Amino acid sequence: MIVMKFGGTSVGSAARIMATTDIIAHSQKPAIVVVSAMSGITNRLEAVARGNDNKESIIDAHLKEAALLGIDVSEFADCARGILEGAHTESEIKACGEQLSSALIIRHMRAIGMDAVLLDALSFMRLNEDGYPDTPFLKKHLADALQQSGPHAVYLTQGFICRDAAGHVSTLSRGGSDYTATLLGEAAEATEIQIWTDVNGVYTADPRIVAHAQRIPHLNYGIADYAASFGAKILHRACVSPAWRNSIPIMVLDSFHPDAPGTVIGPKPIGNGFKIVASITDPEQPDMVKVSLIGHDYNINENDIRKIVGNDINIVDAGLATYMMVPRHKEKETIVALHDNFVTSEL
Ligand code: ASP
Ligand code: MG
Repeated sequence: MIVMKFGGTSVGSAARIMATTDIIAHSQKPAIVVVSAMSGITNRLEAVARGNDNKESIIDAHLKEAALLGIDVSEFADCARGILEGAHTESEIKACGEQLSSALIIRHMRAIGMDAVLLDALSFMRLNEDGYPDTPFLKKHLADALQQSGPHAVYLTQGFICRDAAGHVSTLSRGGSDYTATLLGEAAEATEIQIWTDVNGVYTADPRIVAHAQRIPHLNYGIADYAASFGAKILHRACVSPAWRNSIPIMVLDSFHPDAPGTVIGPKPIGNGFKIVASITDPEQPDMVKVSLIGHDYNINENDIRKIVGNDINIVDAGLATYMMVPRHKEKETIVALHDNFVTSEL
């Protein structure tokens, strides 16, 4: 079994859904395929929950793509209305994005003759009393769901959505479909987890900020885990550990360029000179940004960093990451300076 996760931009339109199902058709089977909501929909559902957008416009956005896919629009409209009309709490409304995208995609998969079945993530994705994924529950109930549905090439399911310990609909934190994918990979003892996104792998910094950032072909689990939790936006902050503790490789791949090599996250040795710069806003201090240099290098000390960022910045050593709190207006220049001075091509 492999797990393939496709994010919002990979399922964001009829054309992207066709490209995604084409990737799935040509990949190893059986596969559990985890999908996000269509891009932009979760934000809009948050607005619906606050009373600033309406359910009809969400339905219309999906019907437009259904028509382009040649799906029976009136049958899908009934299904979409049923999903949204049954959602009342904020979490139930947020969960509709993945429920709608998966309902659309399973119809397209069947229309093109793919041997696919839809599994309801709410039947196995559950949080425990502490709010963390209930992994024993997940393992047992995923196995039951797979067994009940019988052998298929593709088991489609929703990312992000789950139930809390009391059984109410809930969600993981934003971007959580990556986490669903690695948790399912762990539960199903998958041989590989593929995170299909819109960037060709993990880079040494966000390429939108550092134009000459480099793709990292092989990344160590520990560095990837730190990078995700210190703000490298390409991966959900908690998603590395389920794969890491089971030694399942994570491939980060680009659905817009499916033949590009991407990044393999696995047990690669950590080398000197090998670093990622990432940043994250501190919710406690909205005017400040935590910028981190992630990687292992005994040759860099605080003084080296001070020469670059100045003496007035608070620098903290956090094991595989060294981070500093900078005012928001200095975020980009700090990232570029750290990248230019400490990230070498020795990956
Ligand atoms: N749809 C959710 C979000 O936008 C989960 C995800 O895309 O991973 O945060
Ligand atoms: Mg994401």
